[in-house]
Amino acid sequence: MRPDRGHIDSRLSHSIKCDHTLGSVSDRMRRLSVSSAFEGGSIDVDAADDPQDVRLRLKPDDDEIDTHWFYFRLTGARDQDCKLTFVNSDRMARLAGREEVPDCWTGYRPWVSDDGEAWRRTDGEYQNGIFSIRHRPARDTVHFAYYPPYRMAEHDRLIAFALADKRARLEVLGRTPDGWDLDMLQIGTPAAGKPKCWIMGRQHPSETMASFFMEGFVRRLLDPADALARTLTEEAVFYVVPTMNPDGAVRGRTRTNARGMNLNRAWAEPDPHKAPEVVLVRDRMIAEGADFCLDAHGDEELPYVFLGGPLNVPSRTDRVADLFAAYTQAQHRANPDYRPEDPYPGGMPAEADLRMAWNWVGEEFGCLSVLLEQPFKDAGHAPDPQLGWSPARCTHFGATTLDALAAVLPELRP
Ligand SMILES: [Zn+2]
Repeated sequence: MRPDRGHIDSRLSHSIKCDHTLGSVSDRMRRLSVSSAFEGGSIDVDAADDPQDVRLRLKPDDDEIDTHWFYFRLTGARDQDCKLTFVNSDRMARLAGREEVPDCWTGYRPWVSDDGEAWRRTDGEYQNGIFSIRHRPARDTVHFAYYPPYRMAEHDRLIAFALADKRARLEVLGRTPDGWDLDMLQIGTPAAGKPKCWIMGRQHPSETMASFFMEGFVRRLLDPADALARTLTEEAVFYVVPTMNPDGAVRGRTRTNARGMNLNRAWAEPDPHKAPEVVLVRDRMIAEGADFCLDAHGDEELPYVFLGGPLNVPSRTDRVADLFAAYTQAQHRANPDYRPEDPYPGGMPAEADLRMAWNWVGEEFGCLSVLLEQPFKDAGHAPDPQLGWSPARCTHFGATTLDALAAVLPELRP
């Protein structure tokens, strides 16, 4: 069940204040407007009088310092050269301890869409810690986003696609604070000895590449013409949570849920009030068990795809370390967009942070548990000058994850 429309409108009403419709000297200036009053929208407007100097403010998540996500519509600037500046983009350029990695705006190119559906990159400008978009809209409206949005209607379509196949069942794990169902797909039939594989994404709502990854993973897993996928659904059971944080996604948050919680810092001791999404998935996982887990994310800074394994959890074993090495090699063979040699950003920490899902799962179940980080920018060793790291590459990466998983499947259970 979904929240009714009135509920959504009241949640977004704060955004409506962002709309600036100006009555000023010239007709072209009077028509300029910036709005984020729609699902996933996020921006604050300081000034939208002059297309050459639109001043915007990235909205922080509650007390989180992270501020990246933007998604808004600009109206009234057709055929005009526009400069849109994020005046607070210096607030959060780099994550701590990552000095060897380029900051999040260096090499970043924003996404633009004429119709809100088809997205391409446009030009950015980064000077003295302040990032601006340079664009000349061809139409009266143009959408900008940090990465192409993935809305709940698309989540619903993916669920509906899966449920058309008898191998898939839907389980609603519970309800989020904003009233969304927390959906889990079970694919394959449980039986003694079959590995239990958990795949989840979008703990961090701004990392929509995780949703495009899920599209590729689920759609290939249920492709009846794909023999490898068929074998996987016969020999394993999959528990897939495509959208861990619907509230944050709808509200246009960078990292948090409706209660201001970064869910990927809640797994060790989840607070049922602040992180009910984690409690629901974690309880189900404890009841069912886990032999594999992949948690899909995006990274603002990294110019490569990164896979992390549970190599520094307290219960670390050589068996799991060897499994992770085999998994990464198989992923590279299946999709050279990923290279095993690309380093742990900032260096491998001495001790795993068990508040993070992949570490907690690896520790709790002693299994292969993988963190996936896809870039917002591009994979530097295999660049796409037009689109960089695109939704299509995310989807392909999700599909090729099946090859990596198939390579280690017989060894997942000790
Ligand atoms: Zn993340």
